[in-house]
Amino acid sequence: MVLTEFKPVEELLIKLKDEKKIFILGCGGCTEGANTGGKAVLASTKEKLENEGKIVTGVMEIDFLCQKALIRARIKPVLDEIKNAESILVFSCGIGVQSTSAVLAKVCHPALNTITFGGITGTWQGTERCDTCGDCILDYTGGICPYTACPKKLENGACAGQSNGKCETDPERDCGWELIYKSLKKMNKLDILNKFIPPRDYSKILPSPALRKTRLWALDEEEII
Ligand code: SF4
Ligand code: SF4
Repeated sequence: MVLTEFKPVEELLIKLKDEKKIFILGCGGCTEGANTGGKAVLASTKEKLENEGKIVTGVMEIDFLCQKALIRARIKPVLDEIKNAESILVFSCGIGVQSTSAVLAKVCHPALNTITFGGITGTWQGTERCDTCGDCILDYTGGICPYTACPKKLENGACAGQSNGKCETDPERDCGWELIYKSLKKMNKLDILNKFIPPRDYSKILPSPALRKTRLWALDEEEII
């Protein structure tokens, strides 16, 4: 199971400060097991956002957000509600946020941080990859993970080795930052590129002491019975 933790509410509100209309999308897979998702979490988030003066255009849970085909199949009835929103707040691991961004070409704010992929990962069958950094920044990178799409894990644009949109490490491989640029352009959000992303804090890759004290963590780490 993929373990995720909530981003602090204060951090989410800063991310959403310039946006009025939000759609909330939740994964019904690993997040339910990790207690970071499910209908109750989505409903209480809706209430919190509305108390902050936001308009929640819709709320939806899809069994597994790590599968783009499933998202495409399920999302159709709420497409108008999504189009009506300025962004989507996604409760899933980094793979789910990447899949959602790829399907909907809209800024997707990760509501969770991905801590570990210590087990089977839902129905994930796609090309998206997550490096379990513990501080998801996909809303600043068009839903493309810079830590997996770029071999150098660069956070603020392409290196000088990029050539015709291809990576200097492999001419067959798209440059991750070219993909980020194209994705943000499709979302009409190139202005996000002006934001400086601070250097990665590698201490966040470790599950937090609080998480390591939970029963869920103990179960995940349990020796063979
Ligand atoms: S930024 Fe990348 S590595 Fe970090 S949680 Fe998001 S998808 Fe995973
Ligand atoms: S060419 Fe692009 S993907 Fe390759 S290392 Fe440089 S920035 Fe990263």
